[in-house]
Parts: sequence; structure tokens; C-alpha cells
Amino acid sequence: MSDKQPAQVQPADDGAIARAVHVLRSGGLVAVPTETVYGLAARADCTDAVAAIYAAKGRPDFNPLIVHVADVEQARELALFDDRAELLARHFWPGPLTLVLPLRPAARLAPAVTAGLPTIALRMPAHPVMRALLCEAGVPLAAPSANRSGAVSPTSAAHVAGSLGNAVPLILDGGPCARGVESTIVALRADGGWKLLRPGPVSAAEIDALLGDAAPGDNDTIEAPGQLASHYAPGKPVRLNAARGAPDEFMIGFGDIGGDCTLSARGDLTEAAARLYACLHEAAASAKPRVAIAAVPETGIGVAINDRLRRAAA
Ligand code: AMP
Ligand code: MG
Repeated sequence: MSDKQPAQVQPADDGAIARAVHVLRSGGLVAVPTETVYGLAARADCTDAVAAIYAAKGRPDFNPLIVHVADVEQARELALFDDRAELLARHFWPGPLTLVLPLRPAARLAPAVTAGLPTIALRMPAHPVMRALLCEAGVPLAAPSANRSGAVSPTSAAHVAGSLGNAVPLILDGGPCARGVESTIVALRADGGWKLLRPGPVSAAEIDALLGDAAPGDNDTIEAPGQLASHYAPGKPVRLNAARGAPDEFMIGFGDIGGDCTLSARGDLTEAAARLYACLHEAAASAKPRVAIAAVPETGIGVAINDRLRRAAA
């Protein structure tokens, strides 16, 4: 991929990481690989840096950002951790789980990060490049997906360059993202209940096993403000649960159902998640005016894949 990449794409070696730390500490933007998707990172305690994220993405200001931390101690400085938060962090951090917790009123954060909410979304990522940046920058980093708001998420450095272009001065290339879909988001409620705000690599059943059932009566209290019905969209009509593609459709297969590309020819959901956005980017770039996608089972990570596909089709 390298000689076709624009100049701001750099392999995520020690030198590039050091340059990225300098850019971040100075209040700039850097696109970084994580285990979920590529993120557009900036220091979360700097008003101008956070404003630059919203501007580069064209993101509506009511859609709060996830704040990434180097360790649990840093998270505890920003949010009120109860026993449930400690338990989930112990089990799933570093990893693809975001916790929505009560914001500490004294937390040093740009107010726009939480879009004025009394809560904050926190994650400690596992990817070694993002971890190195967090540790060396020494400040929490706000990092939404590194794409124009509403468009297909990036799982490679080339996807970032294609979507954000010159809006981001430095893109660290860490290869394709292992998980391929955004983190699971769980909100912990003051009344002891919890709610799945976004399905992801950590399943509701895994949360359930630790916390018990989500409180059913509480489910409408808070919505994830940024969970828009249309998102991840390749810019052309998308037809779901297709058995085969029409001649004018770019067909994305799964398992026995083939196509112009496949999520996973062997019907493996982990592979399908990792390939999901690459397939949607291919579909977007294709000359065919429509997209059709084979059915994906609604189990395990398939729940997250189908959530994204429904929004891509909306
Ligand atoms: P993205 O950064 O694009 O992965 O999106 C992050 C998502 O996290 C947004 O769509 C929000 O809905 C959600 N989120 C972030 N902060 C909060 C919060 N304080 N309360 C509820 N949802 C949040
Ligand atoms: Mg996003």
C-alpha cells in the first residue's frame, strides 16, 4: 500500500510515534490505529484540539466523544468508578469496551468532549500504537472514528486518507484493525442498572454474566446521543439479506453466498467483522450504483455487524 499513500501516512514506527506525540501534545490531530477502527485523536483537555476533531469530521456537536486512557487510574480521575465499573474494567480493559460513567465535576476536560452531558464515555484501548501514544502523551485522548461523520468507518490508513484527506496532518499506519467494528458501549446507571448503548466486540451476554440482567424498566432514560439511524453509509442504496446480487449491485457475500467480495467465505463472524468496513469501502468505490449484502447470523459479534449494516442501509 505504501507508495500510493499520501505523504501524511507514515508507518507507526518509533520515530513516527514520537512525532505523533509531539503533534498531540501541541494540540494537533493524529489518526491512529486501534484494535477496533482507526481513531482521530486529540488531547481531551484542550478546547481547540477537541473543536478541531468536530470540524475535521463534520461531526454534529451533540454527539459526544469517547475519551481514551492509558490506565484505570487515569480513568478514575475523569469519572466516578463504582464496583461495577471496576469489575468491567478489570475484565475487559485494555480492550474494546467503552464505559459511560458519571463525569467528575472537577475533571480536566474540554466541555465539548461530553457534549455537555453529566456523563463521560471512557475506554482503555489494547492496540500497542494507541497505548504508546497515550502513555507518552501523558494526557487522555479524545478519539472518534477517523472518517467524515456518517460515512463508512476506517479500518486501514488508506481509508482514513480517503475520507479525511488533508484535514488530518499525520496518519499512523498500523495495518488493518484486528476487530474491525467500534467498541461495545455500556452505560452504568446510578440505580444499579446498565444499558447496552452500542453492540460491539464484547457481547451483552458477557456483560450480563458479570453484572446480571440490564434493568428492563430503565431502558429509555438515556440515549446515546450520537447513535444516528443512518451511519456507516457507502453513499449508495444498500439491500440487506440478499441471496444474490442483481447485475447493477455490488454484492458482498458471506459463507456459501459469494459476491464481488466476501465478508468471510468460511462463514467466520470474527473475520466478517474485521472485513466489514473494507468491503463497504470497496462497494462505495465500485462503479456499480447499488450494494447488496448476504445475511449475517445475529449471534456473537454478528449482533454488532448487523447493527452497522442496518445503519449503512438506513
Ligand atoms: P464514535 O466516537 O463515532 O465511535 O461514537 C462514540 C459514541 O459514543 C457516540 O455515538 C455517542 O453516542 C457515544 N457516547 C459518547 N459519550 C457518551 C455519553 N456520555 N453518554 C452516552 N453516549 C455517549
Ligand atoms: Mg464513528
